[in-house]
Amino acid sequence: MVEPLPHVREIPPYVPGKPPTAQPGLTTYKLSSNENPYPPLAGVLATTEQAVAAMNRYPDMGCAALYDALATKLGVGTDQLAAGTGSVALIYHLLTAYCGPGDEVVHAWRSFEAYPIAVTASGATGVRVPVTADGRHDLAAMADAITARTRVVLLCTPNNPTGPALGHAEVATFVAGVPEDVLVVIDEAYLEFVRMADPVDGPALLRAHPNVVLLRTFSKAYGLAGLRVGYAVASADVAGALRAVALPFGVSSVAQAAAVASLASEDELFARVESLVAERDRLVAGITAAGWWVPEPQGNFVWFDLGERTAELAAAAGEAGIAVRPFAGEGVRVSVGEPEATDRLVELLGRLAPPA
Ligand SMILES: *Cc1c(COP(=O)(O)O)cnc(C)c1O
Repeated sequence: MVEPLPHVREIPPYVPGKPPTAQPGLTTYKLSSNENPYPPLAGVLATTEQAVAAMNRYPDMGCAALYDALATKLGVGTDQLAAGTGSVALIYHLLTAYCGPGDEVVHAWRSFEAYPIAVTASGATGVRVPVTADGRHDLAAMADAITARTRVVLLCTPNNPTGPALGHAEVATFVAGVPEDVLVVIDEAYLEFVRMADPVDGPALLRAHPNVVLLRTFSKAYGLAGLRVGYAVASADVAGALRAVALPFGVSSVAQAAAVASLASEDELFARVESLVAERDRLVAGITAAGWWVPEPQGNFVWFDLGERTAELAAAAGEAGIAVRPFAGEGVRVSVGEPEATDRLVELLGRLAPPA
């Protein structure tokens, strides 16, 4: 029998958020994958359909229109950009380009479940640094975890699934202490939802430190999760390496068209983000009023640190027509979605005893 490389058997499975199960007489809601609950904007959909009509042609491998629009938006050169099939793909490209067996990748835990998958697939070794009791990165412990073998540090802000975001000053101090030959990847998948004093200014960090890499996605605030497109912003050297290892023609013409149209529709899309942020505030107020607690959410989701009671809340939500994302024995992540779903969740929490 032909065996895959030994580390392939060690790759943990990705557990996708499940769709809701039908409940008689109830509208159901999918709050299990941090998706954008709004349907596509009509204009974005129309542009995307034009791209669909040309599906017999390969996409633009150079993503020229997308890179031009992003370069203008971000004030960087087009040579500082690398697109991929979701920002998860950029994590794979980065690890392919910079890591192999014997190398270490430091990241927080619990954090994004794709990290251990991508790190293990690359053959490198993940070094997990526990988040604090309030779901924050322990940057001091992460700095201590860097060794001569470390090639990459992943920061997730806001942290999926726990919710809190990092501040600019603490990240600037952290990055200043990281050796220049270690990449600091700042995964900003939920950037547009952050409302805090002193938010991370990724482009400023990148200007000061060429070993910084920003990861961003069209899947969350821009509502294009099904089309798979995200990007990295980095030094021209790093971005070039990411483009070099990428699958040829990875980002489809349909995804490129939708992303460019979405960048041109930011006013409308960000008004929706504002509504989701307001809904997040309403959800947190309801959670608090019901006597429960969640770490400060800065993305489009909240985290219930429930340990052994994880399955109980997930099952109760399922019966109420709401699909959530349980992490067995750890906690439950619930995306911010439709107001009716918020009301139903808060009502449900009021009926369950909060953790002691
Ligand atoms: C959703 C998410 C991403 C992006 O996923 P893609 O759909 O692949 O762009 C990246 N990082 C985190 C932490 C996420 O939650």
